[in-house]
Amino acid sequence: MLKGKTALVTGSTSGIGLGIAKALARQGANIVLNGFGDVDGARAAVEALGVEVFYHGADMSQPTQIEDMMRAAAERFGRVDILVNNAGIQHVAPVEEFPVERWDAIIAINLSSAFHTTRLALPAMKAANWGRIINVASVHGLVASAQKSAYVAAKHGLVGLTKVVALETATTGVTCNAICPGWVLTPLVQKQVDAKAAALGISNEEATRLLLGEKEPSMQFTTPEELGELAVFFCSPAANNVRGVAWNMDGGWAAQ
Ligand code: NAD
Repeated sequence: MLKGKTALVTGSTSGIGLGIAKALARQGANIVLNGFGDVDGARAAVEALGVEVFYHGADMSQPTQIEDMMRAAAERFGRVDILVNNAGIQHVAPVEEFPVERWDAIIAINLSSAFHTTRLALPAMKAANWGRIINVASVHGLVASAQKSAYVAAKHGLVGLTKVVALETATTGVTCNAICPGWVLTPLVQKQVDAKAAALGISNEEATRLLLGEKEPSMQFTTPEELGELAVFFCSPAANNVRGVAWNMDGGWAAQ
């Protein structure tokens, strides 16, 4: 379905971003990978699906590096047809103890980076009259949890940005939507499970049950594969008029 298209997924060396990159690659899209850590592993996993892969190591907190990535992606593949703003980090602390440097980093990586990639990707998408912008927000773009001020503020902001971009592209072939996952067992969440186990002196299994039980009625993690399939749907012709939605895949979290 996406043969001949190019998808750029920020933060795609791990977790949800890698899951979405693989799902789009399975549909034939060439992939621009971004992120830190196991770059070779991510590249090999996507190349194994038979598409072309280009990696750029831009730090999503740095606008000049984002500009360089967007330029390099366009030079390599002609243009970015599908932009998935996924890179994100977390920090957990009460507001009055929240490190200022962590606040700034979370706003930059989880929110401002999507503004920069979007403003840079839109002209070519509009010129082609086809494009998909998919923002990986969170159920925390819809509801709050204590101790996550920067993350919740950034994700609510990302849902707001999604709606504005959807309005500004409403009469074009470009759509912009957000995906709002509940718990997904990636390194970002494993750290929170480990912290809970350590703080309460309980096993990893018990900490996982507690974590799910507090928020997620299904008591099940959403998987990167499931989120990848939702991204594929947003890229399909059936979703041509799906615009500005914040679609939760959260085991019932936000329904409570
Ligand atoms: P993860 O830690 O597995 O992956 C994060 C990715 O972002 C990695 O590829 C990492 O290298 C990259 N990254 C981090 N900082 C970066 C930076 N400065 N520049 C470029 N890349 C950077 O986390 P994940 O759980 O897969 O999270 C992906 C997205 O999904 C995030 O936006 C997160 O907020 C969101 N999300 C996660 C969950 C969950 O339960 N895991 C739930 C809702 C939303």
